[in-house]
Formats: sequence, structure tokens, C-alpha cells
Amino acid sequence: MFLTLTTTHRPATDLGFLLHKHPDRVQQFAQSTGTATVFYPEASEERCTAALLLEIDAVRLARSAGRGVPDFSLAQYVNDRSYAASSLLGVALADVFSTARSGRCRSRQELADSAIPLQLELPVLPCRGGPGVAHRIFEPLGWQVEATSIPLDRRFDGWGESRYVRLSLSGTLRLADALNQLYVLLPVLDEAKHYWQGPDEVEKLLRSGAGWLAGHPERAMITRRYLGRHDALTRVALSRLAELDGDHEESVDPVGEEEVAQPAERRQPLNEQRHDALLAALRRIGPDSVIDLGCGSGQFLARLIKEPGLTKITGMDVSIRSLQAAARRLRLDPLNERQAARIDLFQGSLTYEDARLSGYSAAVLMEVIEHLDPSRLGALERVVFAAARPAAVLVSTPNAEYNANYEGLSGMRHPDHRFEWSRADLAAWAQRVAGEHGYSVELTGIGEEDPEHGTPTQLAVFHRG
Ligand code: SAH
Repeated sequence: MFLTLTTTHRPATDLGFLLHKHPDRVQQFAQSTGTATVFYPEASEERCTAALLLEIDAVRLARSAGRGVPDFSLAQYVNDRSYAASSLLGVALADVFSTARSGRCRSRQELADSAIPLQLELPVLPCRGGPGVAHRIFEPLGWQVEATSIPLDRRFDGWGESRYVRLSLSGTLRLADALNQLYVLLPVLDEAKHYWQGPDEVEKLLRSGAGWLAGHPERAMITRRYLGRHDALTRVALSRLAELDGDHEESVDPVGEEEVAQPAERRQPLNEQRHDALLAALRRIGPDSVIDLGCGSGQFLARLIKEPGLTKITGMDVSIRSLQAAARRLRLDPLNERQAARIDLFQGSLTYEDARLSGYSAAVLMEVIEHLDPSRLGALERVVFAAARPAAVLVSTPNAEYNANYEGLSGMRHPDHRFEWSRADLAAWAQRVAGEHGYSVELTGIGEEDPEHGTPTQLAVFHRG
């Protein structure tokens, strides 16, 4: 099985730096199921192609899959695994290009952070649901998709199409995003995933899906297929993805009959409940200006701009990519002066004092503090409560106790969280901060309440004076 990756970025041979594989060399990597080879059929200034070839050892594969499950059929040895780009290719790709997948590149970091022209070719790909599914999955990610069915046998027209397609993707993307997408989506398209699904599969999915899966209109289908038939893991993953982005209606996949059934009643996603709760808390306070600190892609800002009483609304984040997404979401038009006077976005950090944070009647920190190293929290306290000093500060953060209700969740809810607090932890922090800076504080919960573990999200509302 075979995958090629081409760029026309100049100089194209920089692809070698991004992939951490030298264009002049042929390199082999032993895999549990066979051997992966990386080589460059073409490497010039204008155009550079890296190829990943995975040769499957059918005997080793049968042995690695057979643990405890005797299978005496010939199909263990005679199957498509050696020829079709399946989940096994995804696993090999993750192993061979692990540094590239993390987005790190010591010698070309700026390039690793940039979208570059890319073309991916997969000559034979099992595609559950046919070419239409490949379009639905890859197009929303910015790829131009060409998916052609492969006939079962060229000599016998009447036999019709096989279940394989030739897939060609072109687009301008970050290489790390492209590799992570393939890693997740190859098994999603494949008929069969060959390894056992442990709870850490959810972590892997969320980590590899960072930045593209939560906002994908087909995230429900992708998640269900990626996690196989494991209902409980699928529910955990979907609720965590909904926390990251509740904007998109989840689609029901009409293709696979074996998809996991949806829970009977569809609950309101937690992040919508959070937006409602913070908006209600703000309305009770009645500020005329609000700054959303760590605004992310601007989902809450989109709610705030509909509040007629607000004359100034600002979003701040440390991430330029998030701010760009926010500007798109809010359809900010630099030529619209009235809009520009009311809405503002800027890049900054919560851990450095900044005059631009002053002058607001309320500040929102929604699901932000847990993204900071605990050692930087003192800096945030000084920046927000000592320097900026808005009349009200709203802080929401996960309630770690509630994690017990997410079956299959072993660590924290999101790979980027540095800590998650119990209700007592937040109360202790909030009371100390309020006391030190002349605020009072009220603590409440957001989301469905569990009698023992409380609500999934907790909220602290600080009032000055
Ligand atoms: N408030 C948004 C996003 C939460 S994710 C929401 O509820 O949907 C956390 C956000 O905090 C990310 O967008 C991240 O870029 C931002 N962030 C993390 N550290 C930060 C810092 N030091 N200064 C400002 N923003 C930060």
C-alpha cells in the first residue's frame, strides 16, 4: 500500500525538513505488521514528492491480530491488507512521521506553522460508503477531492465497481494537519480497524483531531466510525467534542448500518449551556462593555454582539489562528466604522500586564484558566484582578469531580488542560483571590447536576467592592 505527498512550495525540497526524512535517502522502518519505506520519487526546487510504502507481512499480521481469538480461516492470510491503504497505513504514518504530525520542526518552524500547497495520492483506498463519503469527509477540511471508484475487474464491465477508490486530495494546509487528518480518516474510511479500542483511543482521537475535528460538520460520523462499535467511548468523545465546539448540528450518517444508536433524547450541548449561563449571569450584572479573555474562535462573542445594551465588545486571545477564526465567524469588516467602534479583537496574553485590558465593566474567562500552567496563575490574578480590575469577572472551568460520569475517561477532558479542579479547589482559589483584591464571589454550577459529583462546569462570578 502506498501514499504520496507532494508540495510545490518553493523550495519544495523543504518537505524533507518538515517530514524529518532526507530526500536523498531511502529509509526503512520496522512495523508490527510489516515494513514501512520512505523515499522521494521526485525532489526538485519546484516540486517534491515523498512516498510511504507499507509492505505487510501477512503472517505477522495474522499473528498480531489473533491474540486470544483463534481464526482458522484463510482470510487471515489472503485479504486486501497488503494492497489497500487501510488503518494499517494510518498507524505506520503516525509512527514514521510522528514529529511532523506534532507540528514541530527545529530548522523550519515557520514553515511547519504555515499552510503550504499539498497534494496527496492514495491509489487504492477502501472507502466504506463509496466516493461520496470521501467528499463529505475531506471537503469541509479545505481539500479539493477527486475520488474515483475502481472497477472490480477491468475485463468484466458488468461486475461493476469494487469497494475501493483512487483518492487524490489537493489543498493548502499545514502539513501536520494533513497528516493528522489522514491518521484519523484512513481508519474511518476503512472497513475494518484491526486493533483493540482502549479508553486512550478517545485521547488519540481528540489529540489528532485538534483544530479540525470539533468544527467538522461530519464529526459525529467520523467519531463513531473511528471508535468502531464502542458506544461508551463514542459518547465520551462526542460530548468532549461538543464542549470544544457546539456550533454544528451533528449529522446522522446514512451510510453505515452498523453505526451506534444515538441516545434517545438529544441533550443541549454543554458549551451551549455554558454560553446561556454566562449570558444570563452577565444580564443580571448589566455591563455596558465586556472583554472575553481567551475568546478562542469567538463563539461567545457571537452571542454578545446580539446584546443591544453592550456598546463595546472585545475578544482577546494568545492564538492568532483562533483570532482569525473569530474574525471570520463575526464577519468583521475593516471598512465598517460603526462595527469597528463596537467590536475589537486583539492578540495578547493573560499573564502580561496590558493597558488594553482596562476600562471594561465585565471580563469573561470561559474555560481558560485550566489552559495555564498553575505556576502562571498568579500572573493572571495580577493582570485581571489587580491591574485591569473590571467591576465583574466571570470565570468558568471544568468540575473535575464530574469526570467520574464520563465512562472511559481516564485523564483530563482535553489534552491541553494543565489542571482540572474539584468544587473545593475552585472555591478555595476564588475566595482567596476575591479577598486579596477586594472582590466578593458567588459560586454556581452549569449543566446537568449529578447528586454526588455536581455539574460538569463550575462558575465563579466576582463583583468588585
Ligand atoms: N473561551 C473560549 C475558548 C476556551 S479554550 C470558549 O469557551 O470556547 C482556551 C483559550 O484560551 C484558547 O483559545 C487559548 O488560545 C487561550 N489561551 C490560553 N492561554 C492563554 C493566555 N496566556 N492568554 C490568552 N489566551 C490564552
